[in-house]
Amino acid sequence: MGNVGAKEIPQLLSADGRRIDGRRLDELRSITMKVGPLTRADGSAFVEWGENKVMAAVYGPREVHPRHLMQTSKAIIQCRYNMAAFSVDERKRPGQDRRSQEISKVITEAFESVVFTEEFPKTSIDVYIEVLQANAGTRCAGLVAASLALADAGIPMADLVSAVAVGKVAGRIALDLKKEEDNFGEADLPMALVPQSGRLVLIQMEGHMNRDELRQALDLGTKGCREIYERMREALRAKYDTPGRAEPAGVPA
Ligand code: UDP
Repeated sequence: MGNVGAKEIPQLLSADGRRIDGRRLDELRSITMKVGPLTRADGSAFVEWGENKVMAAVYGPREVHPRHLMQTSKAIIQCRYNMAAFSVDERKRPGQDRRSQEISKVITEAFESVVFTEEFPKTSIDVYIEVLQANAGTRCAGLVAASLALADAGIPMADLVSAVAVGKVAGRIALDLKKEEDNFGEADLPMALVPQSGRLVLIQMEGHMNRDELRQALDLGTKGCREIYERMREALRAKYDTPGRAEPAGVPA
């Protein structure tokens, strides 16, 4: 244990290579995904990922509000990421702040590259992401939930978008950081991938890594995204494989 002022820095990696919660460096936190829990939305999904709990709801394609945002040749995607005041240890001020605006923007851009927006001109596809409980990696959990909700709403897409954060913890590259690792680690790199094409649609980084570490982080993150992707497909199958239920148009084959 080290000390910074009054704050104790936890030991992030044990001598036998285990992390603060016992995981190996390349291990994801436990994840459960439920597709379609909200009956009033056109599509929805609830994701529990470690201690994160995130709900996503999709409406549309529907009329554009405000109207001046309407585009004649395609649908617009409007994502709103919101972190509930009770989702974190220290109460967060309710409402949109710069962080949530930034996250909403990068998630919107990630989806713009997979959704076939030109099929629905003059409409809006509205995506709401509500973080009910947060423990690092909420933009990735939100993206995964929103991706499932878009598929559940039958929105045509080239593929599902998968996401995970990688980082540097006690000098080592680690998959899927939790809060202590995010706070006290050396780097945090959330990324989102379109698994079938291998295209990265979101990448951000806070902290420092050298070129080799960055390469290693991208490889580990890609592996993690592919693992999450399989879980996403299972979650969709769990809903739509029920006899008598139609496949949503948004789910890739
Ligand atoms: N967090 C917080 N209060 C805030 C914003 C974030 O306590 O106002 C916590 C929360 O647990 C979040 C983590 O810090 O998951 C990391 O936040 P970051 O901005 O890195 O985004 P995230 O990792 O959630 O995508």
